[in-house]
Amino acid sequence: MTPTTPTGGSRPAGPCGEHREHIADLLASCDDYLRRIRRTLQGGHTSRHYVTEKAQALRNAASSLLAGCHDVEGWLRQCGDEIIEDWDGEPSITECELEAGHRGPHQAGSQRSPMGVATDAGRDLAGAAQAFSDHLDWLAPRGCLAPDVVDDMPQLARGLREVTHALSKATRALDALWTAPRDPGSSDEEELP
Ligand SMILES: [Zn+2]
Repeated sequence: MTPTTPTGGSRPAGPCGEHREHIADLLASCDDYLRRIRRTLQGGHTSRHYVTEKAQALRNAASSLLAGCHDVEGWLRQCGDEIIEDWDGEPSITECELEAGHRGPHQAGSQRSPMGVATDAGRDLAGAAQAFSDHLDWLAPRGCLAPDVVDDMPQLARGLREVTHALSKATRALDALWTAPRDPGSSDEEELP
């Protein structure tokens, strides 16, 4: 089953567009798995195997989402010029974290680009999904989601809330990224040495 993308209509062009579609798909998958898990846990007829399976799928989708964010980040962040900073007399070499073709001086880490924010949100989502899935794995040998499920529900519910929160944060961050103003003349520009 392939979940529908929230951006189904217009397909953005270019390499970023490809990533964008991939990331939108993964985001939609996370949302889909999350809904299924929530529905099952709230529905009364809980199946441990079903929930654990969906939690693992959620974790995998979330970690793919994070990897996708890293891909886009890597693609966008092409400046990477070396900056030599003075750390208590020791020279420390870092990379410029601004996007390729930026104006003004190079900068290391002091500014968060929309992509950086989105990657952080993706990392939080992957972490929350991992924790949720790990919790289910930990419960499984104890026969959870059987009679003693009641004791575990508050913690499962908290884990679900954390994933939900991380997912909406990632959605907002990615929305902000796709609508962020880009350098107007960024296509077919001649590379300066
Ligand atoms: Zn730079």
